[in-house]
Amino acid sequence: TQYVYRFGGGVSDGGSGDRNLLGGKGANLAEMASIGLPVPPGFTISTEMCTRYYEEGEQFPQSVRDEVAGGIAHIEGITGKTFGDAADPLLVSVRSGARVSMPGMMDTVLNLGLNDETVVGLAKAADDERFAWDSYRRFIQMYADVVLELDHGAFEEALEIAKEDNGFTLDTELSADHLKALVAEYKGLVEKEWGKPFPQDVHDQLWGAVGAVFGSWQSERAKVYRRLNDIPATWGTAVNVQAMVFGNMGDTSATGVAFTRDPSKGDRAYYGEFLINAQGEDVVAGIRTPQYLTKVAREEAGAKPASMEEAMPEVYGELAAVFDTLENHYRDMQDIEFTVERTKLWMLQTRSGKRTAKAALKIAVDMANEGLITHEEAILRVEPMALDQLLHPTLDPSAHRDVIAKGLPASPGAASGAAVFDADTAERWAAESKAVILIRTETSPEDIHGMHAAKGILTARGGMTSHAAVVARGMGRPCVSGAGGISISAKDKVMRVAGREVREGDLLTLDGTTGEVMAGLVATVQPELAGDFGTLMVWADEVRRLKVRANAETPQDCRTAREFGAEGVGLCRTEHMFFEGARITLVRQMILASDEKGRRAALDKLLPEQRSDFAEIFEVMAGLPVTVRLLDPPLHEFLPHEENEFAEVAEAAGIDIDTLKARAAELHEFNPMLGHRGCRLGVTYPEIYEMQARAIFEAAIDVAEKSGDAPIPEVMIPLVATKRELDLMKAVVDKAAKTVFEERGRTLKYLVGTMIELPRAALKAGEIAESGEFFSFGTNDLTQTTLGVSRDDAARFLGAYVEQGIYPKDPFVSIDVEGVGELIELAVERGRATRPDIKLGICGEHGGDPASIAFCEKVGLDYVSASPYRVPIARLAAAQAAL
Ligand code: ADP
Ligand code: MG
Ligand code: MG
Repeated sequence: TQYVYRFGGGVSDGGSGDRNLLGGKGANLAEMASIGLPVPPGFTISTEMCTRYYEEGEQFPQSVRDEVAGGIAHIEGITGKTFGDAADPLLVSVRSGARVSMPGMMDTVLNLGLNDETVVGLAKAADDERFAWDSYRRFIQMYADVVLELDHGAFEEALEIAKEDNGFTLDTELSADHLKALVAEYKGLVEKEWGKPFPQDVHDQLWGAVGAVFGSWQSERAKVYRRLNDIPATWGTAVNVQAMVFGNMGDTSATGVAFTRDPSKGDRAYYGEFLINAQGEDVVAGIRTPQYLTKVAREEAGAKPASMEEAMPEVYGELAAVFDTLENHYRDMQDIEFTVERTKLWMLQTRSGKRTAKAALKIAVDMANEGLITHEEAILRVEPMALDQLLHPTLDPSAHRDVIAKGLPASPGAASGAAVFDADTAERWAAESKAVILIRTETSPEDIHGMHAAKGILTARGGMTSHAAVVARGMGRPCVSGAGGISISAKDKVMRVAGREVREGDLLTLDGTTGEVMAGLVATVQPELAGDFGTLMVWADEVRRLKVRANAETPQDCRTAREFGAEGVGLCRTEHMFFEGARITLVRQMILASDEKGRRAALDKLLPEQRSDFAEIFEVMAGLPVTVRLLDPPLHEFLPHEENEFAEVAEAAGIDIDTLKARAAELHEFNPMLGHRGCRLGVTYPEIYEMQARAIFEAAIDVAEKSGDAPIPEVMIPLVATKRELDLMKAVVDKAAKTVFEERGRTLKYLVGTMIELPRAALKAGEIAESGEFFSFGTNDLTQTTLGVSRDDAARFLGAYVEQGIYPKDPFVSIDVEGVGELIELAVERGRATRPDIKLGICGEHGGDPASIAFCEKVGLDYVSASPYRVPIARLAAAQAAL
């Protein structure tokens, strides 16, 4: 097997198609080199080597050592420099790079190849002593941190002291002599902490660094990131070894990061930051405040220091041309790293840029309109779940804002919550369903779990490309970064700003779109659904086959669902109506009645209530199908508990409280979810379903008479296991329909069908379809009954199950395709064999999950039904599934 792939100097052993093998970084470096962009030469050790490295007890086979020697020779041939040469040494960077970008997860070592001897050669060759010693001290610091895993605090402290002693504030003010002294101090620190002197052999340095990159694949923070992002551990990382280019060679040198379009709003404008006389991570780490790339951006921000466009117009022009080349080549917005070494531009990385949902939408729609991509590609470019960010409220522009600080609008959206000052607390409080805002001076990969748990993130330091900003945008969390003027003490759990204090637990609101930080809660408004969102939805609707309905049981939910484009109601749960106001007493009276007469007395009073509920929903949904599920939950759930609840029911029913309590005790169940619920209620008390059916038909006729536009009621019988159950219940429904139609002197189109939510029903679907005119897969219960896992109790162990790969994802979130999916496929096949035009849908939580929607498309369901806010997500996911 070949493990080493070269790039640069006219050679590219790989390309952008090799991302699995070379990692994203390596594949794109090779690709950029092959399209003639200026890339420092180098080579990539493949992800296959990472896997083998772990298989073989973290060792490198001789063949790989030989291949790496060949890679080094490749770089030497192009640069004319020799690795370890005392006169004109080749320096390299050792960079990690997995298949997908994992911001900040893996570590990079720069300036490798420096030692006491080569540093002197470098100074001479570059004719810049300060530069050489600056590079050496950076190298030791990084190597000690990443490879030797020594505490980096001591190194930073030494640097701070060196600056303080001289009255400096910036690293760049340190002279060559200061840096020499610092290097000596660093080497002392290494020897003290590590027990051995800093490695002087450049080959030892190289292999140490390569091993460390592979080693970091199994670091704790990489594992956390993988878990949060569903990245399998088997992918491994690649290692890139690349000739160094130097942005720290004085005022004609610089380093920067850029996006070819605005990653936050999506505007077609170059966007980025750079630093003169700096290296690599200085920009992201917030060591100095970076300068803007373009003049427009600088002016807009009212910033003073010259933009790159102004300070280095020629190189900037070259860079802009590279941006266009890259966008046309990759046909997507790119996130780029570059370095200028003495006015010469070098490209160090490109990848598809992370973006907010808003930017993703705008960029996809714009690029399609520019003719760069097709409508289909535009549809595939937007992650359906990311729309969630756009569908939720933003801050009400007219609400009062008690602004206490302002930072950079690092990730848009509004968030309110209680202030917390560390990631662990954020995670703990969020687990208790508290909304929290995570406040940090700056974030690092160790904070990822807290950022994930938080509703929003606030940092005192760091720019638009800081760790906090990049990660927050990726997660869709609102973020305000670099809020100057605030001082944070994580230890004392307090933030101070302009004479005010925010303590742990205090409420705070962030506006990630403006960068404002406000005390207290601020009112929100509904999102705007026109514009790019509307355009993409139109395109999606043109290609999707699956219909999208909503799970909704209130007129308000139905209106929201229609605004979001729902094509009907796929699940209207009638029991929610039973809990409202005074009705619960009637319901209790009904279920606690000792005979049919008692039940009917209560049901007669419930009838007008149900009818008016249905009428309101049918009005909103006029002309569309509405699936109404007859009463489903265990009677158990309706039982009174408190003394006063018993008293109320006793009075309403006119029976004494002790009889009532005795009856309630009789109804107690050990396992209510497998107990007296679903159609079992209808079988034992048909008058309940009779009343509900009557309410449905009366309401439907009322609406048809009033508006002329009748809804299409689909009466759904829950928890059916056998055809006979459905037959009995269908007879009740049909009889109610017949009676109402006779009374009102008109008829109405309606369907009677069933949920498929028990394995037996799925197996006997062929028979059940003889009576059922539609099936709706109730995948919550079907998952629960197929797996034998109670969804109300699963939280305690399901995490461990997913972690150990027993189920790839939470089966209550994303359908268990192998097991539950097979039952669905079988039911679809058998149902259709009996009744070719049977209507098939899904109404579990899975109806709003993109992966499950793809499955529904595959098995050929007619529609999915999701909660109202998930409807646009489902429309987009359905379109993607159809492509
Ligand atoms: P990350 O994945 O964390 O961005 P990178 O490997 O991209 O890590 O490197 C970190 C920083 O070092 C980046 O700013 C990158 O541009 C810079 N860098 C990496 N390799 C070189 C090199 N050969 N010459 C100059 N700068 C480099
Ligand atoms: Mg890094
Ligand atoms: Mg990078």
